Amino acid sequence: MTARKRILLIGATGSIGTSTIEVIAEHLDELELVGIAARQNAAQLEHIQQSMQVKHCVLTERDGDEALIEMLRNVPADIVVMAMVGSAGLRPTLTAIEAGMDVALANKEVLVMAGEFVMRAARTSGVRILPIDSEHNAIFQCLEGVPRKSDIRRLVLTASGGPFRDWTLDQMANATVADAMKHPNWSMGRKINVDSASMANKGLEMIEARWLFDMPPERIDVVVHPQSIVHSMVECIDGSLLTQWSPPSMTYAIRHALFYPQRRPSSTPGVDFNQALDLNFSPPDNQRFPCLRLAKEALQKGGTAPARFNAANEIAVEHFLQKRLPFLAIPQVIEHCLTNGVQEWTANRLEDILAADQTCRKQAAVFIADKFPSNPLTHDN
Ligand code: NAD
Ligand code: MG
Repeated sequence: MTARKRILLIGATGSIGTSTIEVIAEHLDELELVGIAARQNAAQLEHIQQSMQVKHCVLTERDGDEALIEMLRNVPADIVVMAMVGSAGLRPTLTAIEAGMDVALANKEVLVMAGEFVMRAARTSGVRILPIDSEHNAIFQCLEGVPRKSDIRRLVLTASGGPFRDWTLDQMANATVADAMKHPNWSMGRKINVDSASMANKGLEMIEARWLFDMPPERIDVVVHPQSIVHSMVECIDGSLLTQWSPPSMTYAIRHALFYPQRRPSSTPGVDFNQALDLNFSPPDNQRFPCLRLAKEALQKGGTAPARFNAANEIAVEHFLQKRLPFLAIPQVIEHCLTNGVQEWTANRLEDILAADQTCRKQAAVFIADKFPSNPLTHDN
């Protein structure tokens, strides 16, 4: 038997973590889970450790953030699956890259904050960043059919539209956390559920695509496709559109990333054409979903602006999840942080990004405390 591919899974107890374990379990003859990490939930992590016979295990709430960095530095592996959520994933991702491991990346906030620096670090270390986000994984697959970059006209990201796709602004004004958790197609973590509901997720993904594929912002578009079967597209200069399809499960993208550049058979079914299948595509509504417009503005500003977009969104989402901020205030917090108190957007060094991230978090918190003073909202769910 040839050596198995060794995997470190960071964020093992989450939604992407669980799907990753499902894929590894289907290919145990070729894949080996050598290390896992999560923030909390010792019981679940221990269960994974035992059932998958994992040697190294870090619970950051118990062992400290440094223990995770040590694992990434010291445990030899071939690929790291980054399935943490939020900006906390930046340092572990850079550590994995410096340690010379390929990174299968779900943790999109890392590229939104510091895409230029992360991609440069990957080039320097000679490692691959393999996208697990389904849209980017789809584009990555389509691009294999377009070897010359000058043949690409634009990238088109598909968006389900989230649980509030057909809601009016009045309805959204009263949206509860429970409403935002009811995604029509995907079962995901709490933060990305809110991001999907506000469509900030698609904004984050535009920024992610800008760095992953080195594509200027004006050549990245979004189309709403409620069925989540076409996972994104590449339009060529001759007008042909290349697409990647599969049923809405993250296991397709994860399997692709884990075995790239090869493919492996799987028992998971493909798209079923024995049933009638209607697919719809429509333009996004920037009025009802201002996060899309704000993300575009952040992309065009460049420098620290995407990191500020991300930080403001993370703080706003946290407050919404704690029922301390109404849903429609999320874009207000982001807009405030993108339009106030910034003299300099340039980011020459990673430190500039980290500083902007910290300042913006404080600025967002002050704005929320000021404009939406306490009294938890009266949601009953
Ligand atoms: P989740 O909340 O379900 O899981 C997050 C995981 O990260 C958990 O295991 C948690 O313990 C761990 N974690 C969080 N903070 C940590 C820390 N400081 N140190 C160590 N571990 C930490 O989130 P998710 O839905 O799996 O999403 C993960 C990432 O993938 C997000 O960036 C999300 O945007 C992206 N993504 C998710 C999906 C999906 O279908 N869930 C699809 C595309 C992209
Ligand atoms: Mg996605």
